[in-house]
Amino acid sequence: MTTTEQKLTGHFIGDQQHTPAGEDIIDVFSPLDGSLLGAVPAASRQTTDQAVAVAQHAFERWSVTPIKERVQVLFRFKHLLEKNIDELSNLIHRENGKTISEGRAEIEKGIEVLEFASSLPQLFEQEKLEVSSGVDCEYKRYPLGVVLSITPFNFPAMVPMWTIPIAIGCGNTFLLKPSEQVPLTSVRLGELFSKAGLPTGVYNVLHGRQQTSEMLIDHPGIRAISFVGSTAAAQSVYRRAAALGKRVLALGGAKNHLVVVPDADREITAKNVVASAMGCAGQRCMAASVLILVGDTGDMLDRIINEAKNIKVGSDLGAIISDRAKQRIEGYITRAAQRGHAVPVDGRNTTVVGKENGWYVGPTIIAGVTPSDECACDEIFGPVLSVINVSTLEEALTIENNNPYGNAASIYTTSGAVARHFSEHANAGMVGVNIGVPVPREPFSFGGWNQSRFGAGDITGMDGIRFWTKLKKITTKWSATASKNWMS
Ligand code: NAD
Repeated sequence: MTTTEQKLTGHFIGDQQHTPAGEDIIDVFSPLDGSLLGAVPAASRQTTDQAVAVAQHAFERWSVTPIKERVQVLFRFKHLLEKNIDELSNLIHRENGKTISEGRAEIEKGIEVLEFASSLPQLFEQEKLEVSSGVDCEYKRYPLGVVLSITPFNFPAMVPMWTIPIAIGCGNTFLLKPSEQVPLTSVRLGELFSKAGLPTGVYNVLHGRQQTSEMLIDHPGIRAISFVGSTAAAQSVYRRAAALGKRVLALGGAKNHLVVVPDADREITAKNVVASAMGCAGQRCMAASVLILVGDTGDMLDRIINEAKNIKVGSDLGAIISDRAKQRIEGYITRAAQRGHAVPVDGRNTTVVGKENGWYVGPTIIAGVTPSDECACDEIFGPVLSVINVSTLEEALTIENNNPYGNAASIYTTSGAVARHFSEHANAGMVGVNIGVPVPREPFSFGGWNQSRFGAGDITGMDGIRFWTKLKKITTKWSATASKNWMS
């Protein structure tokens, strides 16, 4: 047996791991030190058919299991996540490269969605109204069937957890196609679901790359598709699924702007801006990527530079997902330097002692950037902050408004009027005031605008319930008298 075969983690279908003979094998490397962490098979058409059939079979019973019973599984699963949070954070750390505390934070955020989904019976309660004498109108929500979620590398637990609890809580059965770069956490979640008593076949994991995603999207047994990943892939998934008449929501990439005005609190702002840009090594769709300093912000940039220089790579700041991604990020820094931009904090050629084969880029700040520079326009997806100076808030808003993405935008100010003006005019789905990563906490929903999202609605919150269910409207008349009105 080769080393790869020894480390094989199978597809998770019907509560068991499957590693069908003859399927391509995808190696999984730990970004921390470049070592081989595991391997997964890439699902063939036959495996895809098998997984969909298992989920279809499970749907027959799960879809008619009373919702109060379904959420009991979610309660037990939450308990298991909490009990196993150290092990799970460690697994995320090893397969994604982020720090253990960042791994822990993403489980905690996933648990928030789980808590939201555990309250589905309460949320479904008041959907009936007597609309005229003796006549009731009622909403009834039904699950769709077997549904699919395709997820990116940067949050191996949290992004899948945006969809799994709500989709299965609503009575669907679920196929997850995790990123081939971080496929291990999703199988571990499956084992914990089994332990929590989730019936066999309700949650399944199929490994693979783009080809497996596309086979699943096209599969006639898949009723709805949720996608999170880069904008090019999101657009392609959206078009493919919509052309087949399927329900689809596809979240894409981002380029988030932080705007600092002169009255901002210097210390709080400097710390917060750096945390936003460098957390998760900049590999999050809500990370700050462009900093716009408006007017005379005094020593703000110096403070930010000092904060960034104090970050210890390897302990405060995790690894980059792959050598390819590291090269791509460093390419942006090199080209900016070649164009004459100052790089007062330069994360190129960073190594961590004892982990020399790991993939690291240190905190990076590129100063004196103009709005049309590639580092101000492209999603770099690394710990790189590009700084633009402007004279007025309106100029800052114009730059933010003109970027094609629309996940997040934040302002740092001590003026309520400035904050309100910015919140009203920022062209993004999630806006922060003195918060650099304005991820709404449940029950507020998550979702961007423009090229950061294809399809309608947000991925969590009430929109999640709407996405994963179909609505029936039932009008009933029970009346002892033969009264008549326009709708009798
Ligand atoms: P990616 O687009 O390369 O891959 C995402 C997933 O889609 C993976 O499972 C991959 O196997 C699959 N895939 C890739 N190309 C596909 C295609 N053409 N058709 C179908 N499936 C395809 O993204 P990534 O590099 O894993 O993740 C990083 C990206 O995800 C960044 O752009 C980031 O901004 C984005 N992201 C967005 C959000 C959000 O909420 N908007 C959240 C997290 C990450």
